[in-house]
Formats: sequence, structure tokens, C-alpha cells
Amino acid sequence: EQHPDPWKDIEEHVGRYGAPYFVPEIIDHAEGSYVYTESGRKILDFTSGQMSSTLGHNNPSIVKTIRETIGRLDHLYSGMLSRPSINLCTRIAQVAPDPLNKVIPLTTGSEVNEAAIRMAKTVTGKFEIVSFSRSWHGLTEASAGATYSSARKLGVPGAPGQLAIPTPYEYRPDFVDEQGRLDWRRQLDYGFAMVDAQSVGSLAACIVEPIVSGGGILVPPPGYLAALKEKCRERGMLLIFDEAQTGFGRTGHWFGCQHDGVVPDILTLSKTLGGGLPLAALVTTDEIEQKAHDNGFTFYTSHVNDPLVAAVGCEVMNVIERDDLIQAATDKGRYLHDGLWKLVETHEVVGDARGRGLLQGIEIVKDKQGKERSERIGDLITKRCYELGLHMNIVCLPGMGGVFRIAPPLTVSYEELDSGLSILDQAIGDVEK
Ligand code: PMP
Repeated sequence: EQHPDPWKDIEEHVGRYGAPYFVPEIIDHAEGSYVYTESGRKILDFTSGQMSSTLGHNNPSIVKTIRETIGRLDHLYSGMLSRPSINLCTRIAQVAPDPLNKVIPLTTGSEVNEAAIRMAKTVTGKFEIVSFSRSWHGLTEASAGATYSSARKLGVPGAPGQLAIPTPYEYRPDFVDEQGRLDWRRQLDYGFAMVDAQSVGSLAACIVEPIVSGGGILVPPPGYLAALKEKCRERGMLLIFDEAQTGFGRTGHWFGCQHDGVVPDILTLSKTLGGGLPLAALVTTDEIEQKAHDNGFTFYTSHVNDPLVAAVGCEVMNVIERDDLIQAATDKGRYLHDGLWKLVETHEVVGDARGRGLLQGIEIVKDKQGKERSERIGDLITKRCYELGLHMNIVCLPGMGGVFRIAPPLTVSYEELDSGLSILDQAIGDVEK
């Protein structure tokens, strides 16, 4: 039975989990690039849900796949394989860059990073994990240990074996060359000098997002990921790329790392793989998988190889290919980026626009000259956008500044992009007044 006032039920029964921003209306249904509220409002979803619905909400092909699968296959014992999960592994291995070839299907981003970290420890026999100062890899124990933009900021203590290096941030460089631009080589050398100084000699892996998303939409400078891989190689560490958000076409390649031509030892996929359903996958080489197995690698959680979501994952890849969504992400991403640059040119509080494909961001500042961060202005813009029918969120946490992540589904239309850009323009203008 539905209570006439859902907010009363929410207050009484819905536990709080630290979400940074609550939408002030109840959502009734979602379709394509929009969510629809119970009160009948239509809200443009520029976060693709929690960054996962890259095919748009309730994509008809995904709904059809679920209807065709459920009733025949739902969930199975962890040691029982079915065609959908076998196909999922095979399809992912086909699109993943060589020599990545072995796939373990899991459920969420935190979980798959947990598995990747465990695999790296199992293979190297070491325990220290290096991650980035603005990273987000999840909120379970090991994934949160590698997550600096949340756990640390929120006061959760780290543990021995968790080391961090600075994230390259071209708009706010901490190491500069003679022209005042980011000197990422010096920054990386510094980061690894600190790692070497702090390490107890047990470096297992380094984990990184090929575009740092939750930490502020930070695209690595050309050559950076290759240099990072070299640093890992020199130390016998494995390199893990977390492509929760950058995987499956969003940045204009199947995987974000393909822009840089760098292949990790372990690739973790989640969010975008399930097109809105909980599905993740660990991808690695034959050699590492063999070594992990030989060393007793164990990671089976309740939904490993589940067939229903595996069928969805296969269909996500089919739709990406059928509808040419990787090219769409490139073309629409360029269009969106140009629109966002116009906001930089016309508004004093928009300091920068950056991103790749349909993973874009704008940085909110008090003024362009001083580049001082302003969470307050960001919050006001978020609220005004929502009132005008656009959902967006700020990705940086308290103290880290206000960056809007703009990541509509790959199926977004140019009209919807125009509509979102014009709401954003109006909302920023209203807040500036
Ligand atoms: N990795 C990245 C890059 C993410 O953005 C997130 C979620 N924000 C995660 C991992 C964690 O995924 P999940 O929330 O599904 O556990």
C-alpha cells in the first residue's frame, strides 16, 4: 500500500547513506534521456542514472532481452555456467585490447576492484596498492582503501599498504614547467619517489581511472598512462585500469585506455557494462589468470556468472555496435564540448570545460582570474537546473571544489543536448545575477 505522503515514509524508513544531493521529487518512471516524476515533470538526465544507463533508460532492446531471458534463466549456483555468461566472457574478450583475454563476470564496481586488488596481491605475493589522490574506486574495504576522493575526505582512516600519488590536473597544476603548464613528468617522478620512500618493499599494483571522473573529469596528458605503466613495470607492479565509467563507448572508443594505446594488466568494468543493471567484469591476460589460479585465487560472490544480467551485458554490446554508439559518443561529445566552451566564454563562474566523448565536465569558480573554487555557486546551479528540468551533479566532494559532470546517454539526441545546454546557460545566468 502506498502512503499518500511518501516523504513521511522516507523519513521514517529510508536509511541515509550519505548521498550528496537528494532530488526533491519521487521518480515514477524513466525512458531514454529522461526521468519522469510522480507529479508529471520531465527531467533530462545528464548523469545517465549513476553513470550507468549509457543506452538510455529502459532501452527497448534491453527490456526485450530481459523479457526473453527471465522465466528461463535468472540466477544460478556459482559453479554452474550458462550460455549468456559464456557469451559475455567471449564478447568482452573480443572487444578488449590484446592481450586481455580472460573474463570474470561479477556485480558492482566496488566488488570488481576488490577482486582486481586481490588478484594482484595473489599474483605478486605483495600487498601495497598505489592509487591517485582524486580517485574513486568504490566503497568496500580494499576499493575504498584506493579511493582518495571519498573515504579519506570523509575522515575514514586508511590502512598500511595504501599509498597515493598526485593526480595530473592541467587546470590546477601543482608542478609547473617554464611556461606555467603542468609538468606531469616531474609530478609522476615525485609521486613515485614518495611511493618508494614509503613502501615497505611490497608493491603489488597501481590502480587508476583512465579519465579520473569522480575527482573532477581529469583527462591524462598524452604519454602519461604509458609513463605510469613504465613506473609499474620497473617495480614489478601490476597496472589496473578501472573503466567503470569510461568503458563501453562513452569516451569514443570501446575503452578509455585505447585513446592512449596503453593496455593494463587487469581491466575492471562495471556501471556501463550493465546498461543500468548491476553487472561488472574483471578482464586480464591468460598469463595472469593462470598465475592467479595456480596461487589459489578465490573470488566467487553470490552473483558471479549470473545469466540474466549476463544476457543484458551481451545485448549492451550488441546495441553499441548496431547503433554505432561509439561514433555517436565521439560526434555528440564534440558537439557537447563546443557548447560547454561557449559557457566558459560567456560566464565568469565557468572556469574550464574538459572531457572526452560524452564524459565532459565544467569547473565552477568564483571568477576566472582567481580560479577560486565555489561549492556554493555549484550547489545553486544544481538546484536551479533541476527546477528548470535538468539533472546534473557535482562530482568533487567538500574541499575539492565544484565540477559538474555532464554525461548523458550515448543515445541522447542533438535536440536534447541543445535543451540541456540552454537550461545550463539559463541556470548559470540566474545564479550569477
Ligand atoms: N570505479 C569508478 C571509477 C566509479 O566511478 C565507481 C562508482 N562511482 C566505482 C568504481 C564503484 O562502483 P560501484 O558503486 O558500482 O560499487
